[in-house]
Amino acid sequence: MHNVVIIGSGCAGLTAAIYAARANLKPLIIDGYEPGGQLTLTTMVENFPGFPDGILGPELIENMRKQAQRFGAEFRAGAVNGVDFSKRPFHITVGKETVQGKTVIVAAGASARMLGIESERQLIGHGVSTCATCDGFFYRGKEIAVVGGGDTAMEEAMFLTRFASKVHLLHRRREFRASKIMLDRAHANDKIRFVTPVVVEHITDVGKNSVETVQLRNTETGEKSELQVEGVFVAIGHEPNTKVFRSIMDTDENGYLVTHNGSKTNIQGVFAAGDVQDHHYRQAVTAAGSGCMAAMDAEKFLEATGH
Ligand code: NAP
Repeated sequence: MHNVVIIGSGCAGLTAAIYAARANLKPLIIDGYEPGGQLTLTTMVENFPGFPDGILGPELIENMRKQAQRFGAEFRAGAVNGVDFSKRPFHITVGKETVQGKTVIVAAGASARMLGIESERQLIGHGVSTCATCDGFFYRGKEIAVVGGGDTAMEEAMFLTRFASKVHLLHRRREFRASKIMLDRAHANDKIRFVTPVVVEHITDVGKNSVETVQLRNTETGEKSELQVEGVFVAIGHEPNTKVFRSIMDTDENGYLVTHNGSKTNIQGVFAAGDVQDHHYRQAVTAAGSGCMAAMDAEKFLEATGH
C-alpha cells in the first residue's frame, strides 16, 4: 500500500515525486510508455529557470529522477493499463500487477501527434521538433517548415517568424481547420509562405543527423517537390494520455482531465498535473509547477483523512 502513486515520469510526475518524497510519503512512480516524457524528445532546453547555459532535456529529466530517488521515491517500469478509482485504496494495474494507493497523482502527459514517417522519428531532436517555444530560438535567420493546418500550426508559424528568415507552412488540404482570425494573421505575415495541398513524404538527411530538405507530394496531382529547410516543426495537435481514465474521470471536449481548486479532479484523492490536464501552456516549468501543487494537495488530503 502506497501513500501516493504517481502515474507518469515526465516533468510533472517527477516534480510531484520530489515533493512527495521530501514530505516522507515514499511515493511510487509508474514510468509509463515514454519514461521521462516529452523532454526526453528534445535536445537543448534554454528556458527552464536555473540553467543559464541551458540543459539537455534528457539530462534535466535524469537529474529530477535522481533528486526524487535521493528522498526515497520508488520507480516501477511499465504502463498503466487499468485503474479502479471507485473506492479507496485506489487500484492501479501495471501489466499483470496491481498496486494500491491511498492517493493518486495522474501525470500521464500528452503526446504530440506525429506524421508517422521513419525519417521524422530518426531526426526528432535533431531538426525535427514538436515545440516552437522550446526550439524556435535555434533557427535564427534560417528557413524552416511548419506542418499542420490548425490553430497550433498558425500560432507556431507566427511565433517562429521572430527567428526564422522564412517559414513554409505545409498543409495537406487547401482548406484550413484554423480559426479565421489566426489564418488571416498568418496570411498577413510576409515571412510565412503557404504550401498546399502537400504531405511530407521524407525528411533528409538522416545520415548527417540534421535536417536539410523536406520531400513533398501534392495530394491532388501527385506531383513531387523538395524544399530546402533547416528545421521542421510538426504542429498537427496533441493527444492527452487519458484513455484509461476517460470513463471515470471528467475530461474536456479534447479528452484532457479537468482540474479545479489546484490539482483536484472529480474523484477525491485523485489529483492531476502537467500536460494531461493542460493543453494551453504545455511548458516544462508549468508542468513542474503543477506537479508540485498535486503533491502538496495529496499531502493535505492524506493529513485531512487521517492517513
Ligand atoms: P487540430 O485543430 O486538430 O488541427 C490539426 C491539424 O493538423 C489539421 O489541420 C490536420 O489536418 C493536420 N493533421 C492531423 N494529422 C495529420 C497528419 N498525419 N498529417 C498531416 N496533417 C495532419 O489541432 P491543433 O491545431 O493543435 O488545435 C487543437 C485545439 O486547440 C483546437 O481546438 C484549437 O482551436 C485550439 N488552439 C487554439 C489556439 C488559439 O486560439 N490561440 C492555439 C492553438 C490551439 P486536417 O485539417 O486535414 O485534418
